[in-house]
Formats: sequence, structure tokens, C-alpha cells
Amino acid sequence: MDASRVLRAHTISSGRAMKQALKKLVQRTGLQRKHLEAARMYGERHVLAFQPLRARQRGRILCYHSVGQPEFGVNDVSPDRFRRQIEAALEAGYRFVAPAEIAASGGHAKDLGVSFDDALKSVFTKADPILREHKIPYSVFVVSKWSEQTEEWQKAGVLSWDELRQMRSEGVELGSHSDTHRDFGEIDLERARREFQNSQDMMQARLGFRPEVFAIPFGQSKNWNPETDALAREMGFKTIYSQAEETRPPGTIPRTFVTHFDDPRIFKAALRGAYDRWEEWTWTY
Ligand SMILES: [Zn+2]
Repeated sequence: MDASRVLRAHTISSGRAMKQALKKLVQRTGLQRKHLEAARMYGERHVLAFQPLRARQRGRILCYHSVGQPEFGVNDVSPDRFRRQIEAALEAGYRFVAPAEIAASGGHAKDLGVSFDDALKSVFTKADPILREHKIPYSVFVVSKWSEQTEEWQKAGVLSWDELRQMRSEGVELGSHSDTHRDFGEIDLERARREFQNSQDMMQARLGFRPEVFAIPFGQSKNWNPETDALAREMGFKTIYSQAEETRPPGTIPRTFVTHFDDPRIFKAALRGAYDRWEEWTWTY
């Protein structure tokens, strides 16, 4: 066995051992699941950063959520860290292009795209100024019911239609992230149809256009299936974004999730493909 295979075997077994240990801890202490999920994710991000990597031919699209809204937990990246990540990528010779460009042609090995799921407030207030400073295009995926802002947390934390309209007029690409952020792996096709339809109708009514790009809520392989994919395309979605490169549903465009735990070393590993097989929410118990 060569060194890289030994390292890989070690990485996989450390991951398993860690899951076992965390499972025991949960049984013994009754810790809350969200704490354990966060601990699990933190551990996996660090362990996998050591993975041996393969050369890459295509561009990579990053997926963020909030930038400075700690209530979004593992999906929140602080504004300072976000700025450092963008600048580290530029210093390492990456070139930022629109996600649509990578989706259409695959892009080049040093191309990076930036996207945000859930259309949260801080994308406009914190991330946009940093991206604008570097002239970086980006995409935002909207949950239409959330942007209606009928609940207090939505008024405080989610972008309004007015804000989204302004962003679009300044060149931000907007896509659909469904109507209510349900798990498409769990709902039936009729419900899926309503999710697509309501989101398209709402975006048409509020923003004046029909979205043709869609980001799968939760984004990983178990949150999608071939029937749902066919329905989404039949209803007019031309590009469908998912998560990890090597485990994504067929025909979807992969994205690399950036998490709360991604210090400079982990971020660099993510750019080199360390998480191309890693899905954010795979481990449930
Ligand atoms: Zn989402």
C-alpha cells in the first residue's frame, strides 16, 4: 500500500471512530442533537482536510448561507472570515466567475463561483460590499415564503423582496430555493410540484421574472430523486444545483459548501477538493 492509500484508510477509519464515539456520548449524556451535529461536522471537516487530492479540470462553485448571522449556526461564516477566504482565493490565483458560467461550460480549474442559499439578510449587508469591492459576481437562491416575511425571524433575518429586487438590478443572479424549503427526498411529487409552482409564481409576481435556476434545499443526494428532477426540468428549471461533487444526483451541478468551521487550512483544503465526497447532513441517528 502506498502512503496516500494508508493515509486515506486512516482518514476513513478516524471518521468512523469519531462517529462511534459521538454516538456513545449522545446515548450517555443526552446532549442535544444540534450540538452533536456541530461537533460531528467540526470533526469531519478537520479529519478530511488531510485527504490526498486529485488534479482538477473544472471550476468550483462555493455555497455559503449567512455571513455574520450567528443564529444560523454551522452555516454562518463571519464577515471577517468571509473576506479572508475571498482574498486567500484571489492570492492563490483563483479567478471568480459567475456560477452560471461554470454550470454551462464546466469552467477552468482555477475558476471559482460564489453562491448563497436561503437569501439571508447578511448577504446584502455584509457579503455584497466585499464582493463588490473585488467585482465578484454571485448568485442567491430564494425561499419564496421566507422572503414574504410573515414571521418575525424572517423580517429580521431574511432578505425582503425590495432588497432582492435592488440586488437583481445591480447584477446579482437570483434563483429559486423552493417555496418553503421542504426536503424533496421526503415529499411526494404533487407537493414538489406546488413547491416549484408557488416559488415561480411568487418570484414572477414580486420580482417580475420566472427563475430558471434552482438550488435543492439541503442539497445532497438523499434530498432529490430522478422523478423530482424530471418534474423540475419539465416546469422550466434549466440548471439545478446540489452539493458534493462526487455524490450529487445525476445531472445536477455540484457546489462546495463552506461552513462555520472552515479556518484557513480547511478552506484551502475545500478549494482543493477535500470535501468533494462530503455531504453536510449525511449522518443522522
Ligand atoms: Zn437552504
